[in-house]
Amino acid sequence: MTRRHLTLLFVVALAVVWPFLSDFSTTVFSYIALYSLVAAGLVMLTGVGGMTSFGQAAFVAIGAYATAWVCTSPTTAGALAALPPALVPWLGLVLGLVLTFLVAWSLGAITVKLSGHYLPLCTIAWGLSLYYLFGNLQFLGGQTGITGLPALSIFGFSLASPRVLGPVIWAVLLLALWALHNLLDSREGRAIRALKSGQLMAESMGVDTARHRVKVFVLAALLAALSGWLYAHMQRFVNPTPFGLNIGIEYLFMAVVGGAGHLWGAVLGATLITLLKEQLQDWLPRLLGASGNFEQIVFGLLMVLVLQRFAEGLWPTIARWSTRVLKPDVEKAPRAAQALPSRPLPPTGELLLEAAGVTKRFGGLVANSNVNMTLRAGEVHALIGPNGAGKSTFFNMISGVDDPTEGQVRLIGTPMNGRPSRDFAALGLGRTFQHVRLLGDRSVLENVALGAHLRGRKGWLASMLRLDRAEEADLLAEARRQIERCGLGEYADLPAASLALGQQRVVEIARALAGQPAALLLDEPAAGLRHLEKQALARLLSQLRAEGLGILVVEHDMEFVMNLADRVTVLEFGCVIAEGTPEAIQRNPRVLDAYLGGGDEVPVPAPVHVAPGTVLGATR
Ligand code: ADP
Ligand code: MG
Repeated sequence: MTRRHLTLLFVVALAVVWPFLSDFSTTVFSYIALYSLVAAGLVMLTGVGGMTSFGQAAFVAIGAYATAWVCTSPTTAGALAALPPALVPWLGLVLGLVLTFLVAWSLGAITVKLSGHYLPLCTIAWGLSLYYLFGNLQFLGGQTGITGLPALSIFGFSLASPRVLGPVIWAVLLLALWALHNLLDSREGRAIRALKSGQLMAESMGVDTARHRVKVFVLAALLAALSGWLYAHMQRFVNPTPFGLNIGIEYLFMAVVGGAGHLWGAVLGATLITLLKEQLQDWLPRLLGASGNFEQIVFGLLMVLVLQRFAEGLWPTIARWSTRVLKPDVEKAPRAAQALPSRPLPPTGELLLEAAGVTKRFGGLVANSNVNMTLRAGEVHALIGPNGAGKSTFFNMISGVDDPTEGQVRLIGTPMNGRPSRDFAALGLGRTFQHVRLLGDRSVLENVALGAHLRGRKGWLASMLRLDRAEEADLLAEARRQIERCGLGEYADLPAASLALGQQRVVEIARALAGQPAALLLDEPAAGLRHLEKQALARLLSQLRAEGLGILVVEHDMEFVMNLADRVTVLEFGCVIAEGTPEAIQRNPRVLDAYLGGGDEVPVPAPVHVAPGTVLGATR
């Protein structure tokens, strides 16, 4: 039995036992599906996207109130009199989704760029505001709410009780889980996962992080609104109570206890919390001999316990147990991959990157002072200098991470001042990071495929509906090709974090290559590599140079630099003190002085002998 079989078994079992469940049980199971829908949105937002929200209950409220108003208001009754009554709730759904879209997009545009504690605090703030708004709007019934909602009906078949509406809610949930699962397993899904690691890496791969964050936020809100619509027509009345901040916290609780990074964790969390709440509400008052919301206290304690024992939630633990019993899903044979469209590299010798008079000031500190530098196609240019010389600062200036205070940066003829790093990526700049930035729990293959983000076109909807499979196969094939080219083929399907640090640096190079760059910027690529691995890296870079790439390396390993580079630029205190061939640089008295004075290694290279057959990553 595989995991897919188990899912199918679960669905079939639910369908088989449904007619034999008591009315009470069908209601509870319907609630579980409604909560799961909201929690699944939170898994996308919080677990995958890294944005915590306490305010989802407010979006459930918009979905519920929109349809309640459309179905019962005297204002709409006149206008909709001509419409068959069975269609009115569907109009309520459309209104709810449109309203939620507008509210979530505006709220998201303002709040999701906030970092740290500010975003969760903001979600609490608007969660509370919307809750009180609903309680105070007289046309929505104030604290009393709205009663007399019609039941849903499909093709004349009434869905009046949870016994018949429940299966519909579960079908909606399963469909949503399928679509979300597809989304996560796509080019756009990789971009969403990259959001969690911060803006720097994702933007350098060409991902518009601000837009993706807002889109995930809106997606989670729409799922909540859908749940609210179904809820309203199951209950047949709405009032503000079920949309308070405490319920918003409970939704988050469900996602976190289940396992915020896993879609099925949402269902598990919603099930556990709902059943537990049901039991506790029964038992605690009897046990304590007094009435009150004692279950909230128990929940708080439970949350602390669960998070102590299972920091990732319960789902990963269950999934680990299940792998002992279950066989892995049989993957369909991969589609025949086509080569991705490729752009021609600029001819050897052409100017790729040009920094003219680049100055960067941090307050009074001048980190780069009037730095001029060029990178041409088909050369390796090394940037060296003692610690604090301004190398990393300069790296940021020429990759769009930061803007020069003065001076010009051009990439393949285009002025780049003021443009974000994803524009640099789009024009043909690939880069690695001094501190490795990989998604450690994702496979090497997925990490490298993220580098090819800009070479795909398919969007969210296409991914959700599985219409992206041909393109996805091409992207993954390209990623695998780059991994093999860098000598890491046997590690492609392992989690990136399981590789040695030196190998992870090489994964970053493969990821940059997947973007088909003309210029490659490498920040200390040899750090952490063993001797043989350094030799293999040198061979790879020589090969890339021969293919016509322009490579800029910041590197401390002088032996590596002097044997590989065609030109070397030396920075000291933010100024260029020398530029020339490795031989000339090694004889330059100012350079020797800077290194001796700076206490860094004296650049005395030994010739590197590259042994044939050395493969990167051969040692772990
Ligand atoms: P390198 O990479 O050559 O070791 P850096 O570019 O990191 O040097 O730093 C150059 C100088 O600029 C250092 O004195 C450093 O303290 C300063 N610096 C770098 N980034 C910032 C910043 N964001 N704010 C203030 N000072 C900075
Ligand atoms: Mg540095």
